[in-house]
Amino acid sequence: GHRIVLAARPHGTVTLDDFRTEAFEPRDLKAGELLLEVNYLSLDPYMRSRMDDRKSYADPLKIGEVMRGESVSTVLASKNSAYHAGDFVLAHTGWQTHAVLSGDSVRKIDPQLAPVTTRLGVMGMPGFTAYAGMMAIGKPARGETVVVAAASGPVGSLVGQLAQISGARAVGIAGGSTKCAYLRSELHFDAAVDHLAKDFDKALASACPSGIDVYFENVGGRIWHSVLPLLNRFARIPVCGLVAEYDGNNSDLARDYLPATMRQILNQRMVIQGFLNYDLAERYYDDFIKDVSAWIAEGKVKYKEDIVEGLENAPQAFIGMLAGRNFGKLLVHVAR
Ligand code: NDP
Repeated sequence: GHRIVLAARPHGTVTLDDFRTEAFEPRDLKAGELLLEVNYLSLDPYMRSRMDDRKSYADPLKIGEVMRGESVSTVLASKNSAYHAGDFVLAHTGWQTHAVLSGDSVRKIDPQLAPVTTRLGVMGMPGFTAYAGMMAIGKPARGETVVVAAASGPVGSLVGQLAQISGARAVGIAGGSTKCAYLRSELHFDAAVDHLAKDFDKALASACPSGIDVYFENVGGRIWHSVLPLLNRFARIPVCGLVAEYDGNNSDLARDYLPATMRQILNQRMVIQGFLNYDLAERYYDDFIKDVSAWIAEGKVKYKEDIVEGLENAPQAFIGMLAGRNFGKLLVHVAR
């Protein structure tokens, strides 16, 4: 098989030289283990943080280590009585064509129930993140305004659709007119604002004539500064991700937003709360599966996937995602 390892730590923006492809022979199976063939690999923004040698909520990768990640894989061989060749599983295989993992560390999925790719997107970790963040912290009410950035991605697109299901107005922020048109015409967001356009601040303000009650924070940086003056009394801000800041070389990071932020927290009595999806799994996971699968079946929730062919194209696709070149949940089709 083949695998992609971290070759060097990025200085700011990730480059192709930060990755290296290696050939390898999967090792023999021990009792309880499975040989997996990776079908679809998920590429997610959190992987960027792991490339740095810096403490965050996830441990940093070592140089030479396989890039980590979740995939939908097929069991090729099994020494675990719970699994058989041909079973589909969700597994933390990393960026490789094959992996040997303990059967205890994977989860079987039923390909009849839903397209397997949705287990990495709308019905997987990103979808759950949107659901849990909105239920536990955002708590949108009828008539309120919910704003989310990275709005055409798997997290943001579900956040906006959940807002609408709650009777709130959904305003999406996205890069470029194609993504904004998609939010308005396909996902029926009430408004979509292009953060690459010159008049972004003004356009955001006019898309939110009654202010903002929930700002679901996916990006940070300059967009936070634009959102801040529009926040209403008792606004809720689930802090989910800061993708604009992960490279650490955003010129905007030199500005100190803290005094303005603290002032607004006090004036508007806002709640800003960070969360990681897995902290909320016990409370919300079953509800998520039940609700979101029903809403997909009823056509109330739609999703978009951006599927790249071939593991060798994963680094380029990952770099593209951090620059907003993905359109929908980014997946790599590795085999079959
Ligand atoms: P996306 O597929 O939405 O990809 C990231 C998107 O971020 C890009 O497509 C781009 O969209 C946008 N973006 C990148 N740079 C900037 C920038 N400088 N300014 C504004 N937008 C930018 O990713 P996901 O839906 O998978 O993830 C969304 C967020 O959720 C991320 O921050 C991620 O880290 C976080 N997350 C957090 C989890 C948790 O447990 N807390 C779990 C999963 C995800 P555009 O072209 O529209 O600008």
